[in-house]
This record gives sequence, C-alpha cells and structure tokens, in this order.
Amino acid sequence: MKILIIMAMEAEAMPIIEELGLKKLPINEKLHSCFPRYRGEFEGKEIIISLNGKSKEYGVDRIGTEYAALNTQSAIIEFFPDLIINAGTCGAFSQDAEIADIITTDRPAVYHDHRVPIEGFDEFAKGRYPTIHRPEYFTGIDFKLGVVTTGSSLDMPKIDEQLIREGSGMAKEMECASVAAAAQLHGIDFFPIKSVTDIIDVELDNVDQFLANLSKASEKLGKTLIQVLKNIKG
Ligand code: SAH
Repeated sequence: MKILIIMAMEAEAMPIIEELGLKKLPINEKLHSCFPRYRGEFEGKEIIISLNGKSKEYGVDRIGTEYAALNTQSAIIEFFPDLIINAGTCGAFSQDAEIADIITTDRPAVYHDHRVPIEGFDEFAKGRYPTIHRPEYFTGIDFKLGVVTTGSSLDMPKIDEQLIREGSGMAKEMECASVAAAAQLHGIDFFPIKSVTDIIDVELDNVDQFLANLSKASEKLGKTLIQVLKNIKG
C-alpha cells in the first residue's frame, strides 16, 4: 500500500516527517517538480508526504487550492499512490468543535466560494468531490464526521457563511476539495484529516486564533495521522 499525504504548511508537516523518519527526495528535474517530498516505510506501508512548498516570491507556504491541485496531480503522476490523505488545519463553528478537535468526513468535499449562477456550471463550480470513510482507520481516535468545505480565504464574509451553513459545512479550510478533485480525476481513494485552529463564529479575530492555536492543533494532527497510518492494514 502506497499512501500519499498532501500538506500545505511546513510547520504542520515537519514534526510528522521526523516522527515517521521520512527522507527528503531530490527534486525531480524531469517533472520540474517544485514540491518538497519525503518518503519512507512505516509499519509495512510506503508513505510519501508532499508539501505545497514555499513561495519563492513571498517566502510563505503556498497554501490554498491552486498549489494543492498542482502538488497532488504531480505527486500522483510521479508515485501512483493507492490512497491520498489531505492533512491540515481548519476553522469550525463553536457548536460543532473545539480547538484541536479532529474532523474527517464521509461526505463529498465542496467549495463554498465558487459561485457561478448558470445552470450546470453552478453545481460544477461547487463540486462534490468523493471521499472515502473507513471507520477502522479511525479506531482509537476521537474525531467528528462532517462536511469539509474549501475556499480561497481565511476570513468568512456573510455570503460564504451562508453557503457553508447551507451545505452543512463543518471544517472550513483551503485545500481539501482541490486535492479531492485531483484524486477523483485519477480514480484514487481520498480522505481528509483536519485539526481545528480557529472557531469561525466568535468575535475573536480568526488570524489571532489561528496563530495562537497552530502548535496545539498541529500536535493533535500529527498524533492522529500517525495513528491512522498504523490502523491502515495493507
Ligand atoms: N497566517 C498563517 C497561515 C494560515 S492560512 C501563517 O502565518 O502561518 C490558513 C491555512 O490553514 C490553510 O492551509 C487552511 O487550509 C487552514 N485554515 C485554518 N483555519 C482556516 C479558516 N478558518 N479558514 C480557512 N482556512 C483555514
């Protein structure tokens, strides 16, 4: 079993890469790959973690949908994985979750800010990208099941909130639907694991919350991901 893990932020990924003992792969010049990749064996499975990488122009992690799709597509072509996991952080409503809670899904991943009010294109834009949920992968893990909803902004204007609520969104983040779309294109099983860094319906600014809670959420994300990898047999 070959498992590809797509992660946007280096700070979240490095402790996991170290704990799994993965080794950095050389940049594949032929594919002009710009994505830092780490590979190794863990409990009989081949694990590849592929990061969205840092922007050369702005020096920050390439968060968001575009690089998540590019990263996933190029890693699929290079490694032909059996399973893809998108691990990262998310915002959530106060009624659904607390900081560092783990959210995964048994429902399709959607976009909440792709608005195209033309018949056919409206549903295409929102997307309903397949995910798989195998309860046995989450044995021994405290988690919530809900819709993971993707957009291109960290803030939440009213129209986004309305659409997230209409779609029963539980985890608001910036990569999942894009990774799921690339996985669907190639017929590969996919699921997300998200840890909550910020509560999106409270007064506190979610940028401040994000920065304050990133390390706690990342630690939980790492522990959970490693337990899931142990639980996967094959
Ligand atoms: N400013 C931060 C970057 C966070 S951007 C920094 O300096 O490190 C948001 C990243 O975390 C994205 O990868 C996204 O998937 C996730 N995320 C966490 N909370 C989010 C929220 N409320 N809305 C959208 N994305 C969120």
